[in-house]
Amino acid sequence: MMTDISIIVPCYNEQEALPLFYAEITRVAEQMAPLTFEFVFIDDGSSDGTLSTLRSLAAQDKRVRFVSFSRNFGKEAAILAGLEAAEGAYIATMDADLQDPPALLPQLYRAVTEEGYDCAATRRTSREGEPPIRSFFARMFYKLINKISDADIVDGARDYRLMRRRMVEAVLSMREYNRFSKGIFGWVGFQTKWVPFTNVERAAGETKWSFWKLFLYSLEGIVAFSTAPLAIASVLGALLCAAAFLFIAVVILKTFLFGDPVSGWPSMMCVILFLGGIQLFCAGISGQYLAKTYLETKKRPVYLVRETEEGLK
Ligand code: UDP
Ligand code: MG
Repeated sequence: MMTDISIIVPCYNEQEALPLFYAEITRVAEQMAPLTFEFVFIDDGSSDGTLSTLRSLAAQDKRVRFVSFSRNFGKEAAILAGLEAAEGAYIATMDADLQDPPALLPQLYRAVTEEGYDCAATRRTSREGEPPIRSFFARMFYKLINKISDADIVDGARDYRLMRRRMVEAVLSMREYNRFSKGIFGWVGFQTKWVPFTNVERAAGETKWSFWKLFLYSLEGIVAFSTAPLAIASVLGALLCAAAFLFIAVVILKTFLFGDPVSGWPSMMCVILFLGGIQLFCAGISGQYLAKTYLETKKRPVYLVRETEEGLK
């Protein structure tokens, strides 16, 4: 018989959170009986007891499956591995730290089965417990990326969502190496219901995201889902050219009217430094896209599996 719901859980050093998560998700699964569940945990190269916890959970509960990576490949890779491994008719992704409350699952399931949506996704309405400067930059990022990309990326969207098989297949058909899930889910379209909830603090363990990592991640998102920065670079170049021509005209006129004393060295330095900066900036933008193209053309696997619940690979 086919499983009804697959729950995909990326785990990176989550030995403290896993037992709590397992207790909570099995409680919710019981509530939703007679629906059948499978829990697909992805051990993303953890260095703590995550893998051994998963082994023992799998030994005592047939619904528990796991995929263990050969090293840390990142959450995006873990989500992809989970989507590929999942066998359920409905597939949900959620974090192991209980920041994505499993108790919302019945509501998400109803949205997809009864209200005719292809997907029910969650959005947190507050950013409580987060440093204010982080929230500020997060807001700016969402404003910016929605302006410059055609994937609809919702502010505060979590990676906690339940999808119909059809939508998961659409997501899996996107074979890119640089995977920015928030963009991919938005890009495939389909009917998504947004379910708001208030932010919950991590149950145990600690976050893997520093401000710097988040910043780099937002750049990845922009490069993966928009080519606007390239256009901005060329427009900037054109504008500066126009400004330079104007400036030349002014200099020539001035020379004819007032003669040509040697002066204006400071202003010249300013112009040279400014233009040098702009050039490096624009070269950097093209470099970003070139680097991504380089990585895509290598066609490396997104992740490598070392072990599953069926044993070593
Ligand atoms: N995670 C992962 N690989 C990584 C980093 C994180 O699989 O390289 C998992 C982590 O175990 C958790 C989820 O992704 O289940 C979200 O991570 P975290 O709670 O650190 O992020 P935050 O909630 O602070 O954004
Ligand atoms: Mg978290």
